[in-house]
Amino acid sequence: MLDLNDYIASIPDFPEKGVIFRDITPLWGDPEAYAEATRRITHFAKMRDVNVVVGPESRGFLVGAPVANELGTGIVLARKPGKLPRETVSETYTLEYGEAALEMHKDAIKPGEKVLITDDLLATGGTIAATIKLVESLGGEVAGLAFMIELKDLHGREKLEGYDILSLMSY
Ligand code: IMP
Repeated sequence: MLDLNDYIASIPDFPEKGVIFRDITPLWGDPEAYAEATRRITHFAKMRDVNVVVGPESRGFLVGAPVANELGTGIVLARKPGKLPRETVSETYTLEYGEAALEMHKDAIKPGEKVLITDDLLATGGTIAATIKLVESLGGEVAGLAFMIELKDLHGREKLEGYDILSLMSY
């Protein structure tokens, strides 16, 4: 069976000394590995009767879009501020240095819809916690969270307690 870990490049001291950056671009560049990752996440979503996928900008789109296509659902974008043209809801969150925000169109989720949130990597969980707040503020029900990679040492899972999490690989 195909081992997805073979398609992750680990780069020491990027973007700064002491950090090992997990580079997912080799996986996205390989049609079989990308399809396999998509299949596994789609299976997780099917078990939870998901009817819409949400991904945070920008690598969350790369994970979520093919899954939505396989599921036969749409994808909703959680974007950086100022990018979406219509009325939005917004959520600010803290990064290691400073703050960031994500926005979603106000009419993007219908109340009661079952949502799968996807991203490339779970680190501290800040990005996904903000995405969850946006989805829930619109009445969506978060049915699951799916990541290519989880960085265990950063304890993102603890911030996301109570939610159903799939990570395809962990370091
Ligand atoms: P969090 O909000 O702390 O969970 O950070 C998650 C975000 O940081 C993800 O959307 C990733 O795009 C990015 N990120 C953090 N570390 C890495 C890494 O080692 N490889 C790729 N992306 C990373």
